[in-house]
Amino acid sequence: MQALSLAQISRITEGELSGNQKLMQSAITSIITDSRQFQRGSDVLFIALKGPVNNGHDYIPDLIEKGVCFFLVSERTVINDDAIFILVDDTTLALQKLAAFNRHLFEIPVIGITGSNGKTIIKEWLHDLLSADFRIVRSPKSYNSQVGVPLSVLLMNNEDELAFFEAGISQPGEMPKLAPIIDPQIGILTNIGDAHQEFFISLEQKLSEKLLLFSNCEKLVCRADDKLVQEQVSSFCAKNNIEPVFWSTKNDKSSLYFEVGILQDSCQIEAHFDQKRFRFRIPFTDDSAIENACHCFATITALGLDPAKFPDRFEKLHPVAMRLEIKQGINNCILINDFYNSDLNSFNIALTVLNQQATNVDQEKILILSDIEQTGVADEELYTRVNQLITDGKITRMIGIGPKIAAYKKVFSVPAIYFENTEKFILGFQRKDFQSSAILIKGARRFRFEQISALLQQKAHQTVLEINLNALVNNLNVFRKKLKPSTKIMVMVKAFSYGSGDVEVARILQYQKVDYLAVAVADEGVQLRNAGITVPIIVMNPEQDSFQNIIRYNLEPNIYSFELLRNFSASVSLAGSHDFPIHIKIDTGMNRLGFKHEDELHSVLEFLKSNQNLRIQSVFSHLVGSDEAALDDFTRRQIQKFEKAADLLRSSFPHSIDRHILNSAGIERFTEKQYEMVRLGIGLYGVSVSGLPLQNIGILKSTISQVKTIDESESVGYNRKGQVKRESRIAIVPVGYADGLDRKLGNKNGTAYINGKFAPIIGNICMDMLMLDITDVDAESGDTVEFFGPHISIKELAAQIGTIPYEILTGISQRVKRVYLQE
Ligand SMILES: *Cc1c(COP(=O)(O)O)cnc(C)c1O
Repeated sequence: MQALSLAQISRITEGELSGNQKLMQSAITSIITDSRQFQRGSDVLFIALKGPVNNGHDYIPDLIEKGVCFFLVSERTVINDDAIFILVDDTTLALQKLAAFNRHLFEIPVIGITGSNGKTIIKEWLHDLLSADFRIVRSPKSYNSQVGVPLSVLLMNNEDELAFFEAGISQPGEMPKLAPIIDPQIGILTNIGDAHQEFFISLEQKLSEKLLLFSNCEKLVCRADDKLVQEQVSSFCAKNNIEPVFWSTKNDKSSLYFEVGILQDSCQIEAHFDQKRFRFRIPFTDDSAIENACHCFATITALGLDPAKFPDRFEKLHPVAMRLEIKQGINNCILINDFYNSDLNSFNIALTVLNQQATNVDQEKILILSDIEQTGVADEELYTRVNQLITDGKITRMIGIGPKIAAYKKVFSVPAIYFENTEKFILGFQRKDFQSSAILIKGARRFRFEQISALLQQKAHQTVLEINLNALVNNLNVFRKKLKPSTKIMVMVKAFSYGSGDVEVARILQYQKVDYLAVAVADEGVQLRNAGITVPIIVMNPEQDSFQNIIRYNLEPNIYSFELLRNFSASVSLAGSHDFPIHIKIDTGMNRLGFKHEDELHSVLEFLKSNQNLRIQSVFSHLVGSDEAALDDFTRRQIQKFEKAADLLRSSFPHSIDRHILNSAGIERFTEKQYEMVRLGIGLYGVSVSGLPLQNIGILKSTISQVKTIDESESVGYNRKGQVKRESRIAIVPVGYADGLDRKLGNKNGTAYINGKFAPIIGNICMDMLMLDITDVDAESGDTVEFFGPHISIKELAAQIGTIPYEILTGISQRVKRVYLQE
């Protein structure tokens, strides 16, 4: 962004400026809304956004401590003499106004992209096609929301020659806010599908809302093959004096007509345009890739560029990796793969993720970086900036790959070694050079860093459980929205976070400011503490021999019996601690752990009055059947008993004691009994009893190792259980019951999803493998197979074999690699 003074910012946002006079003359050159993105700098403004559940103001004290001085806020609550505050009514609106201001400082062509699908891919491909000729600024990743759009537009600065920004909306009223920020001269309407339809009454309404982005455009690129869309866009263009750039693959009379021929693994496209023909090829064959490529071609013509320059570049288009991947590496390393993006903006995001994933501040942070291509900045300046980012991102060692980066050795201040190309690095690769480090792999596409990632990745086997951390946060927020803002949330991360991997999940939860985490045994808690988790942690099953660790690592025990109380108190005295927080569990009907009778509670009270080394932090109970309507009377009786016991404890102490009884289904069905805290478990991991809009967080997937054809005289697997009635194709997949796939799913009780179809599991499931009947599925070795995920829900799978989703999730064995995705 263009540097702005504080006075300018408060004028643009109509805010009220206050705070430290000495700092008033400072200029702001960067804006953040995510506190994790702060690395360094005295010129950063933090805008405290308030979502339905998260409040950016909560992060201000932390940021002040880290050295941030400038804040744009809508609450007066935080006052600090060392900082400057600009107070506005609505911080999101203020961010949008700043972005619109920044946008109009520049006269370069701005291209706005909206539509249901393909926005990010078209934007990335246009960048790849045009970055040799222009210095381009574009939305990072798929930043296209009410917050993402202004943050993208704020990236525009003097050096840019061309801009691509995407806009996404999910309900009416959103586009009028985004349109003046992007204010494009050329528009691209990708397509109109059913995505995000819930808030629109019809496709027409959704289309007319999306078109609002283009009201001031000179040209609008649009596919003309859908009659309704074509008509609506035509009349919109006529009304607003816009030149439509229609294209078609069906109508050869269209002013831009594409003739598409599908070959083995590429496709040939001939563009008929302006009485001329241009032929190009793309390395894809699917319909959406073809549509996206045609949009790119049409945009090139709309920009007035000569299409004859582009065939080579179309042929080199790559699939777009939309998300960065976090993987377990060799020798206890953690890997962050971001090798399809090497521009400076996405660099900052990746460094943020690296620091968030690094287990502690002292951990070695390695960056493997290729030459950075096509940024339009002179090399020396480019690498000087990169060095600054790397230094701010606390990288401790760099491996530079490529002739350019090596040529600018002198500008790097981090310890580094250089290689001429990826092959040279691979030749000299030694596993022992990478130990317990956090490694960010970032390179331009042609360096093919996926080869490096393959070397550094822990090789267990090809079966992975992919965990989508964004979906997890979504689910957390769905539950938060149901609760009062003051209600605390404890998240159950016991049993390896229901199988999804504890440390990574706990880290995200810590950032999302959940109030408590709960583990089953002390060891799980110690592991979290060692990974830098500072949130209070409750241990559900505190065993005698773990008391020392509980005390040392600041874990908080669940106290469920008098004996446990006495023993734990003795350990606390021995350790010289006092006021140690404990949680009292009441058994209201589960007949598992907990105090059941009132006289037991009286003994607890008496004991605690004479032993002041413990303090009751909370009292809780667990519902037996909160998910089952038939048990609602029983649930209400449990709640009554709980209230009685809680009242007794709470009235016996002067300090406050939190109450909690609701688990996930309880939160959904007995929301009003949230008291001071709730305990969220399975809901976070995507399972709802009442149809909440939760997202699936996990995909269990593998790849086909081999395919063979058998005839009806043959059989498949142990004991000849897999019988066929016709000549059949059988796929062998390296997942077995030792990976946690229940043996009951064998013999056609279970299916897998491959290339758009379902294939039954044939024969008995083996320890490390199973076989699928793929006679009716077009699949071959190397293809991906889903066992649960978006196409096979965990709930259905559980029902098929008479168990519950909990068992499926926690049953996936530790040898199945967990891979984390984050947008
Ligand atoms: C596991 C557990 C929960 C969470 O239950 P869900 O049904 O997964 O939400 C809550 N409370 C206690 C005591 C638990 O052990």
